[in-house]
Amino acid sequence: MAEECIFCGIRSGEIPGDILHSDDSCFVVRDIAPKAAVHLLIIPNQHFTHLTGITPDFYGVLGDMFTAAKDMAKREGVIGSGYRLIVNQGDDAGQQVAHLHLHLLGGEPLGGMG
Ligand code: 5GP
Ligand code: ZN
Repeated sequence: MAEECIFCGIRSGEIPGDILHSDDSCFVVRDIAPKAAVHLLIIPNQHFTHLTGITPDFYGVLGDMFTAAKDMAKREGVIGSGYRLIVNQGDDAGQQVAHLHLHLLGGEPLGGMG
């Protein structure tokens, strides 16, 4: 566990968090400050700050994160209406938590990207 990492703290139980799903690769919580009707965070169990820190032996975990995202979209009832997956990386993207994570947003029209 990385020192003072919110997401590592949630995973270990030191910080409160309602874990909706967990497996050998990742876990899922609701975002504390949701930006859409459905806003989940898919978080790898292992602490990485950025994709640049990831080696090929971690690629399976990335696949499992997308599988969890798809499964959670189904559970949340947005698989048909659509949803958005986002990974913020670094300052220009406004990354707040330095533990890699996938945002899942949906449950309402999200607007286009351009
Ligand atoms: P980032 O900007 O790093 O991509 O996204 C971090 C997200 O984590 C933000 O959307 C923020 O609302 C969320 N967040 C920050 N602290 C907590 C927390 O303690 N619990 C949960 N569930 N989400 C958090
Ligand atoms: Zn962490």
